[in-house]
Amino acid sequence: MHFINSPIKDVFYYLSLEHKLPLQPTFPISKLEFYSPQEKATIAGDIGYITIRGNYPTSLEKQLAKLINSKINYEQEPDYQKLKNEFDKVIIATGDPQITKNLKQWQKTDVSVKIIGATIKGNFEVTTVKMWLNQNFAPQGYAYLLPFEEKLASIALATPYDIVDWKELWQKFLNQLNFNFEVKDTFQIDKYEIGKSKTQAFDNTYLVGNAGGFIMPFLGFGQFSAIESSLLAVEAITQNKDYNQLTKRLRRDYQASYKLRKIIGAMSNQHYDKLVKSLNNKLVKQLFLQRKINLTKLIAWLSTPFASRLN
Ligand SMILES: Cc1cc2nc3c(=O)[nH]c(=O)nc-3n(C[C@H](O)[C@H](O)[C@H](O)COP(=O)(O)OP(=O)(O)OC[C@H]3O[C@@H](n4cnc5c(N)ncnc54)[C@H](O)[C@@H]3O)c2cc1C
Repeated sequence: MHFINSPIKDVFYYLSLEHKLPLQPTFPISKLEFYSPQEKATIAGDIGYITIRGNYPTSLEKQLAKLINSKINYEQEPDYQKLKNEFDKVIIATGDPQITKNLKQWQKTDVSVKIIGATIKGNFEVTTVKMWLNQNFAPQGYAYLLPFEEKLASIALATPYDIVDWKELWQKFLNQLNFNFEVKDTFQIDKYEIGKSKTQAFDNTYLVGNAGGFIMPFLGFGQFSAIESSLLAVEAITQNKDYNQLTKRLRRDYQASYKLRKIIGAMSNQHYDKLVKSLNNKLVKQLFLQRKINLTKLIAWLSTPFASRLN
């Protein structure tokens, strides 16, 4: 969603124009529907993009792979210590903090999330994304629906990892979906860690993406920050710059995003209803679409007068 990446207005234009990375999203998002227990809000316009991941011809990783000439060695289990001695520079981009932890460079996990998801068959408007804020089935988290074909969509529920009644919550989420669908397959991630590393570069090593703590806690989004951190690692290596310095903005964005997650996660269903209702306000919609809302402004808005009106 564009507002999350402010001041960058459109990440795909930005990557293409500023970094010669001509990646394509799967669909634009032209409608975002928010649901709370009693309210619904719809925002329509140029909201952001849906991307596809994994083993699809149009997935981001397949597109990235096409842009490089180097050979990719699949099915390897590289030993960091060996790589570190054999190569001038090593980039760790393993998508989780495990190696960073093993190297004693992980500072703290701030949020550990359980993600339960499914691919569902049905009829979907491919440019419409749905999001649920509801403590009854997504406590301290959220649920979403993202279509990736007219007949296929991903649904997922993200909650704290140690939630015990997750099967019940998942069922509640499915039960309240008011359209016809069939579950094709399901997946579960028990502990998706979002946190910070102590440093982003040490010895001849650079941490990018989730391995370096570049995942934004609010919604657990990290695709753009993973790409951005890798571009900054390239800049640091090729221009002999300080990577920790270059990634300062990403760390600042992380803190804002974490703050927002805490505020929204702590809200009650009544708060969610009022929040979602407020999104129907013409002015709020306009601010959202004109990209005048960013994380910092949202935090300020939720922390002061708005929050007091919610109580
Ligand atoms: C269910 C789910 C939904 C998400 N939805 C969104 C979303 O809508 N928007 C968004 O921005 N973000 C989303 N994210 C987060 C986003 O996917 C990650 O933040 C982002 O992919 C991180 O990029 P990365 O390059 O660090 O890791 P990844 O994209 O995970 O890539 C890491 C790669 O390294 C490989 N690897 C792992 N270990 C090794 C090793 N030892 N040696 C060699 N290779 C290795 C892995 O196989 C993988 O291919 C989602 C995450 C999940 C789990």
